[in-house]
Amino acid sequence: MKAIIITIGDEILLGQILDTNSRFIARELTKLGAETVEMRSVADDRNAIVRALNDAFLHADVVLMTGGLGPTKDDLTKKVLAEYFDCKLVENQAVYHWLTEMFADIPGRMNKYNVSQALLPEKCTPLRNLKGTASGMWFEHKKRVLISLPGVPFETEYLMHAEVLPRLKEKYTGLLLRFKMVTVFDVPESEIALKLANFEETLPENIHLAYLPSEGYVRLRLTAKGTAVEQLENYFDALLKELYGLPYQPSTEGDSREDLLRRLKQAGVTVATAESCTGGTIAHMITLIPGASAYFMGGVVAYSNEVKKNVLGVSAADLEKYGAVSEVVARQMAEGVRQKLGAQYAVSTTGIAGPDGGTKEKPVGTVWMAVAGPHGTVTEKMLISHTRERNIGRGSVHAIQLLLTQIEKDRTQPETH
Ligand code: ATP
Ligand code: MG
Repeated sequence: MKAIIITIGDEILLGQILDTNSRFIARELTKLGAETVEMRSVADDRNAIVRALNDAFLHADVVLMTGGLGPTKDDLTKKVLAEYFDCKLVENQAVYHWLTEMFADIPGRMNKYNVSQALLPEKCTPLRNLKGTASGMWFEHKKRVLISLPGVPFETEYLMHAEVLPRLKEKYTGLLLRFKMVTVFDVPESEIALKLANFEETLPENIHLAYLPSEGYVRLRLTAKGTAVEQLENYFDALLKELYGLPYQPSTEGDSREDLLRRLKQAGVTVATAESCTGGTIAHMITLIPGASAYFMGGVVAYSNEVKKNVLGVSAADLEKYGAVSEVVARQMAEGVRQKLGAQYAVSTTGIAGPDGGTKEKPVGTVWMAVAGPHGTVTEKMLISHTRERNIGRGSVHAIQLLLTQIEKDRTQPETH
C-alpha cells in the first residue's frame, strides 16, 4: 500500500511550527508495512488543498491529511472535502452524541462552535476523537482512502492509534516492508560505501541499502519489500560480515545515540563526566535516557583552567606546560572527576570547538578525551574540524563510544583497584 501524507496549515509554511505530524504518521505507517511515497505541506487554502488531493490520488492508495478541522473560519478542510467528494455538510447524529457526552460534565460550555463540530461531509465515516472536539474522517473514493485528522499532534496520535491503524490493518492485509538497521561509529560515509560496494552489487532489486549519516556515526538501513522480506535476515547477516573490523552496532529505528546510551546504562557501572569543550553535552545526552540516575553520578563542566585545577585537581604546572587541550590534562580531568564523584568510570573531553582558538599544532576540532576506570586510564585524540556544533556533537558521541569500549574491554579482566 502506498501512502501520501498532506499536512495543512499556514503555520507550517510560515516556518512557525515544525510538521511533526508527518513524521509520526510515516513512522506508524512504516511499522504497519505501508510505504509512504510523499509528504506535502500546503496552506489553509482551498485551491492548494484540492491540488494536493488531486495529485495524491494519482499516486497513492491512502491519503492521510492533518489540520484545518477546527470550528473557526480559518479551518477549511471539512468544507473543501465536502465539495471535493460532491456532498453536503450535514449534522452527524453520532458525532453530536459524542460531543454531548464530552461536555456532559461541563454544562453550558458547549457553544455554537462546538456544536458545529458535528457538521461533517455526508460521505464520510466519522472517527471518534476522545482527545478533542474535531472528529477524524474516513472517506472511500474510487478504491482509494482519504483520512482527515485534526492538526493538534496529540489528537492526531490518538486517532491514528485508536481508529486509523486498526482500520488500515484490516483493509490492507499482507503489507510487506521490513527493515533492519546497523550503526557504524566514526567512519566516514564514503569509506563505508567503498567497503560495501561489492555487497551492494549483490542485492536483489527489492532489497535496498540506505546511508543515514549523523554526527559521529552513520546508520545503515537495509529495507526489503514484498516477498524479499524473507531474505532480509540473510542479507543483514551478510552486511554485518562485510562490516567486520569497523566499530558497528545493530540498532533500532530510533536515534543511534539512544542505543549507545542504553548500552551504557545496561553496562551496570557508575559513570561521571568532566567536560571542557563539549560543555555538558555528554551529561545532557546521558540524562536524556530515562533511568540515568541508576548509573550516572554527575559531571563537572570544567570550562576554565581554574575549574580544571580547583575542582578536578588538574596540575597547574601541567596546564602551563602542555596547555588545556592536551593528553595530560584530559587524563587528569577524567581521573580527578572519577575520584571526586566516586564513580567506577569517568570520561573527559578537552578540545577546541571553534570557530576561533585554533593553532598550527592544535587546529580547531582537536579534541583530547580520556576514560578513567578501575584498570587505569586510556586517552585518545580526535581531529574533527567541522562547525562548532558538529565538533561538539561528534566529540561527545565519540567520548561515549570510548567509554563503552573501555567498560566492555574491562569486563574480560579481573578488577585490580
Ligand atoms: P483545532 O481544532 O485545534 O483548530 P485543527 O484540526 O484545525 O485543530 P490546526 O488548526 O490546523 O488543526 O492546528 C492546530 C494546532 O496543531 C496548530 O496550531 C499547531 O500548533 C498544531 N499543528 C497543526 N499541524 C501540525 C503538524 N503538521 N505538525 C505539528 N503540529 C501541528
Ligand atoms: Mg484550527
